[in-house]
Amino acid sequence: MTSIEDKLQRVRQRICSACAAAQREPDEVLLLAVSKTVPAQGVAAAAACGQRAFGENYIQEGVDKQRQLAHLGLEWHCIGPIQGNKTRLVAEHFDWAHSVDRLKIAQRLSQQRPADRPPLNVCIQLDAEGSATKAGVPPAEALVLAREVVQLPGLRLRGLMHIPEPSSSFDAQLASHRRARAVYDELRAAGLPLDTLSMGMSDDLEAAVAAGSTMVRVGTAIFGARPKAGPDR
Ligand SMILES: *Cc1c(COP(=O)(O)O)cnc(C)c1O
Repeated sequence: MTSIEDKLQRVRQRICSACAAAQREPDEVLLLAVSKTVPAQGVAAAAACGQRAFGENYIQEGVDKQRQLAHLGLEWHCIGPIQGNKTRLVAEHFDWAHSVDRLKIAQRLSQQRPADRPPLNVCIQLDAEGSATKAGVPPAEALVLAREVVQLPGLRLRGLMHIPEPSSSFDAQLASHRRARAVYDELRAAGLPLDTLSMGMSDDLEAAVAAGSTMVRVGTAIFGARPKAGPDR
């Protein structure tokens, strides 16, 4: 089995190659290591290789790992769906939330952010295909929500998060990521101070970087295949 160190190195190389192909600088794309279902010791192994930012989908699991690894001073991103009854945990424990797609959730996160912490960094989750079957706001609603979120004092709106429809075709991945990029450009043109386009995973990071991603969220390619998640994690 390849070590986490080797796989992390390989992912960094993929990001560098994708940046070179897109004539971008490698430091324009941040790597978020998605550590859902990975035990704390796996996170510690990646941290020992210089990885600082970790993404968790399951909020309580993420909080438990943060407690175990508090001495490492890592940066924690909540990338999973946020129910109303979980906003306090996210506001109190995480540095980022990528999956905000309702004003109500954003308001609760803002209210519950402790006063002694910097504002919670937030991305609005976009459903760029506008399929309405997935999480995320359709493109036509992104600007309105962004203008509301940017005013909330406990939050700092950073950008958009996008998950494409699964496809093994580079062209299909690229088309989807480009739709998200177009919405991102539109919001910036409207004056919103965005600097983060969170898109690209293990199987589509090259297409995401080609389309302008500034943060890729990679799990499997760093930590290996995950066990299937239970129904109520
Ligand atoms: C699990 C997950 C990832 C990582 O996916 P991999 O295919 O394992 O790289 C990225 N983003 C979100 C929102 C996820 O849930």
